[in-house]
Amino acid sequence: MKIYELSMKQAMDKLNSGELSAQELVKGLLERINDKEPQLHALNFLCEKTALEEAKRSDERRAKGCALSGFDGIPAIIKDNICTEGIATTCSSRMLENFVPPYDAHVIERFKALGIITLAKSNLDEFAMGSSTENSAFKVTANPWDLKRVPGGSSGGSAAAVSAGYAPLALGSDTGGSIRQPASYCGVVGLKPTYGAVSRYGLVAFASSLDQIGPFTRTVEDAAYAMNAICGHDRRDSTSINIKHPDYSEGLRDGVKGMKIGVPKEYFAEGLGADAKAAVIDAMKTYEKLGAMVEETTLPTFDYALSAYYIISSAEATSNLSRYDGVKYGHRAKKYDGIVDMYVQSRNEGFGPEVKRRMMLGNYVLSSGYYDAYYLKALKVRTLIKNDFDSLFGKYDCILSPTAPSPAFVAGEKSDPIQMYMTDVYTVPVNIAGLAAVSIPYTLSKDGLPIGVQLIVKPLDEQKMLRAAYALEREIAPIGAPAFKGGEQA
Ligand code: GLN
Repeated sequence: MKIYELSMKQAMDKLNSGELSAQELVKGLLERINDKEPQLHALNFLCEKTALEEAKRSDERRAKGCALSGFDGIPAIIKDNICTEGIATTCSSRMLENFVPPYDAHVIERFKALGIITLAKSNLDEFAMGSSTENSAFKVTANPWDLKRVPGGSSGGSAAAVSAGYAPLALGSDTGGSIRQPASYCGVVGLKPTYGAVSRYGLVAFASSLDQIGPFTRTVEDAAYAMNAICGHDRRDSTSINIKHPDYSEGLRDGVKGMKIGVPKEYFAEGLGADAKAAVIDAMKTYEKLGAMVEETTLPTFDYALSAYYIISSAEATSNLSRYDGVKYGHRAKKYDGIVDMYVQSRNEGFGPEVKRRMMLGNYVLSSGYYDAYYLKALKVRTLIKNDFDSLFGKYDCILSPTAPSPAFVAGEKSDPIQMYMTDVYTVPVNIAGLAAVSIPYTLSKDGLPIGVQLIVKPLDEQKMLRAAYALEREIAPIGAPAFKGGEQA
């Protein structure tokens, strides 16, 4: 087995048994990155030097017999909207092109305490706004299964990196689907934790009531371990839930016998592609075979979720992004005429077209005269969606659905923003209701592209969700490694 093929758990076991050193692991992954990155463009920064130094320190700790976490020496790739002290954090925006944070995000502090090494920062749609990573100001990331296609977004760099074997673990952020949709497109596991389970301290804010950090891995077991690494209370995020998190790897193998799984019929309405539909129907049968009770059900407010999401997220985005004015940090225009013009020029030069679109939309729905008609109404819809899910979770342990309407599309194909927004239709309801969800690779489409299915649970029920995901993963044939189609002559 090649180093880049190791799952995180396999790498942890090899590190802890002394079969593999952290330096060998990091070097093996750097080799893979150097081999594939010219085709993939998944990374904004490679932290080669610091990663090798950290790996050396990890090996020294182990040689000295220090008490270590099970993760010590594991390399991870971090979405470039998560603050890393001393390492640029750009959000793939010209606005933050030269921003080097003076502090670490909570998740990075936790990683450092556990001995997890930051290997690279990954590309994203500018400020996490998008579904294809094409909105990055720096580069367009390719999908490792077919280089003509997008990896999904906004955490496309992280998803492509884990799929391509750059690292067994990456972090992303999910505001409306930005972990699960790219996970589905790239054939990896992507988990969006319950709102409040992971601290948002140091995550550059897009829409604060929806944003959540979560992991990309190649196996469900690794996702469970990753949850152990990132979940926990943090006073600096007022929405951080103050509980003792369970060991998310516990009970993984307990199966789904007797579990009640609901499949809302609204997810099957117009727009769902044949491949994605077939995958969910097959997953339903697999769960039945495994002893779960699977039933069609209904989520009546589903149709309103996407509109509500784009209203609420844009309203919050415009408020969050007002801090970028060229004064304290971020891009400042070279030429301007007075302070107001300095704001205008700096923002005009620093933000890309999609970010500007969201800010205009956000200002529009918040402006007097439209506030009641759009923003307030969207908040009411949010409550109705929450109520719908509450009643579903009175009957079911888990909801099963497609992750995305279709497999990865060809770059440049979705030039109409509404078409792009439609790729999030199955993921946004989860963020609106603050739930947890995971996308697991289920099968390949007729064209050999990965298709994920989504499992959704009530807040803080991730242990059960991982149990159901693991049962499914164990039952189905693995989709295998990405083909790098189109890279033959590159
Ligand atoms: N694609 C969605 C959007 O553009 C979701 C983004 C995200 O989850 N960060 O808003």
